[in-house]
Amino acid sequence: MSDDLDDLYQEVILDHNRNPRNFRALPDANRLAEGDNPLCGDHYTVFLKLDNGVIRDVSFQGAGCAISKASASLMTEQLKGKTAAEARSFFSQFQRMLANGTAGEDEDAMGSLCALGGVHKFPMRVKCAVLSWHAMLAALDGEAVVSTEQSPRD
Ligand code: ZN
Repeated sequence: MSDDLDDLYQEVILDHNRNPRNFRALPDANRLAEGDNPLCGDHYTVFLKLDNGVIRDVSFQGAGCAISKASASLMTEQLKGKTAAEARSFFSQFQRMLANGTAGEDEDAMGSLCALGGVHKFPMRVKCAVLSWHAMLAALDGEAVVSTEQSPRD
């Protein structure tokens, strides 16, 4: 059991939980969406600055468990500069890794996100790991569009 927990809470996850990257509102975001996981109490807002189908910047705010926060933090690192299409295919790879417990041939592309492979053993926590990604996709799809006139800081 403790071996499993060691797998789940790898150093990468602990580090991103303690010191999440891009953990702020994005003043010039033109897309944002909220993600809620009431089963665990995770709640995040994901901010995107989308320009001609390219994610120029991405950030998040909110609160939740270590898995959800580390996953959101790792996501923002991976998606900056990617196209919307690349972000979607990246999410497919991420889901496949969570289903299989290993990234397999996607390992190089997944990078630090491979640290979340251990979540595979904890089906309830998969919802935590994918929460911010679903919010990111909703933002890409324009399900919660904000204009830059309505600053998300307020
Ligand atoms: Zn959670």
